[in-house]
Amino acid sequence: MTTQLNMTQTLYPMVIDGEKVRTDREIEVINPATGEVFATAAWADEAVLNDAVAAAQRAFPAWAATPLSERGSMMHKLADALEARSEEIAHLIVMEQGQTLAEARGEAPGGIALLRYMADNVTYAPVVLRSDGDKRIVEHRRPLGVAALIAPWNVPINLMLDKLVPALFAGNTVVAKPAGTTPLSTCLLAEIFNEILPPGVFNVICDDNDLGDALTSHPGIAKVGFTGSTATGMKVMASASKTLKRLTLELGGNDAAIVLDDVNPVEAARRVFPVAMANAGQICLAAKRIFVPAGMYDEFCDEMARLADATVVGDGMDPATTMGPLQNAAQYKKALGYLDDARASGTIIAGGEPVAGPGYFVRPTIVRDIPDTARLVREEQFCPVLPVLSYGDIDDAVERANSTEYGLGGTVWGRDLDRAFGVAMRLETGTVWVNEHMVFDFGVTARGAKFSGVGGELGKEGFDADTQAYVVEQTSW
Ligand code: NAD
Repeated sequence: MTTQLNMTQTLYPMVIDGEKVRTDREIEVINPATGEVFATAAWADEAVLNDAVAAAQRAFPAWAATPLSERGSMMHKLADALEARSEEIAHLIVMEQGQTLAEARGEAPGGIALLRYMADNVTYAPVVLRSDGDKRIVEHRRPLGVAALIAPWNVPINLMLDKLVPALFAGNTVVAKPAGTTPLSTCLLAEIFNEILPPGVFNVICDDNDLGDALTSHPGIAKVGFTGSTATGMKVMASASKTLKRLTLELGGNDAAIVLDDVNPVEAARRVFPVAMANAGQICLAAKRIFVPAGMYDEFCDEMARLADATVVGDGMDPATTMGPLQNAAQYKKALGYLDDARASGTIIAGGEPVAGPGYFVRPTIVRDIPDTARLVREEQFCPVLPVLSYGDIDDAVERANSTEYGLGGTVWGRDLDRAFGVAMRLETGTVWVNEHMVFDFGVTARGAKFSGVGGELGKEGFDADTQAYVVEQTSW
């Protein structure tokens, strides 16, 4: 099948109340592989934001009253439509985000599968809590109202769809806001979905990091679904508190990967490297601190360095590329800061330099013999600069892995499953994988512990968070 790509559009409008909305001012969107502006997005102000919330409020009663089976059929239609345009979305993600085409091609399919999963598997059927004699207690669920959905720039479509699909299916209407540096794919998603959804059910506004507070404090918003940094998540929580909005916060992480001493270090490096360096290290759940037994440290580090040296860094559109650029200038500058820190406090055994020329490219960098007190180890680096840390006994590794304010994910790699499970049970995070990494299941809630989040997405807990539970207790007269 050949796909017709319309990649010539340069201004991407927002969509409000089913209509494309253009504005006087536009956000310039830079291709991080070239450092050049290649398209613009319409830029909302508070009046436009108010229009979007009002449209979503008007659409809410009818959408909430639509039977779940009908909303389910609509989810399948959305999945079909997204499937038909997924190549276009993938190309746009490469250009605005910087991922390789192979990575970008993974974003829409996750959402397509979620649309179908929800339609075919999820219900909000009443739950009988007690039924004896003439006493009956039943818990019901109803949608919340208008949900404000805010996504970051690292995985723009997949992370938006993880919020959008459950919110819509549950009967909420939506005002979505992508990150200022990656608005285009979400504008295109709005265009595609608004050909199917009733007007006002799914609205998209764009900003340049300037409307977050107005959106999350807006009295017309019932729920905020936010993915982004912990610092911004804290602001969202404060802002949403004024009207006691429901909140789901998916925040930053500094995940540990613990390699146990019963695995082959070369094989372990080959498993850890790709999940640390995917999307140039810009994944919340990427392995960000690698703990390796002292006895196999040299061999593990050498293989990581070999893999880093073999990485082809370049424009994601080039099929030879295995790692794209950092997404934006600010993140690139942060990465350069971590390289300085690595040079000063550790030993760089691969990479260590930005790539000369245009674009925000940094070579994958492996850093060894760096203390836990270094910024690169303490902070969420969110770039392809990776510290590998040596440990003596497993208690030491677990304690150091846990000594962070974050608690998003983690991994344990070991042949003896009971032992690996025992280590996994000691990590203070929302998810721990053993001998695999970043494997997702729609039935399983993703959530952050500690400073990595509040509430969760997907699974029963995540789906329920898009609804208000209410209980009816009855007995006979
Ligand atoms: P960010 O917090 O800077 O921005 C995220 C979004 O919030 C953007 O859309 C931004 O415009 C918006 N925003 C900015 N100020 C706001 C405010 N005051 N109120 C409301 N919204 C506001 O994050 P980022 O730099 O775009 O993304 C990287 C971060 O996201 C990393 O910390 C990463 O770990 C985290 N992340 C977490 C998950 C997860 O599932 N836990 C997934 C992906 C990324």
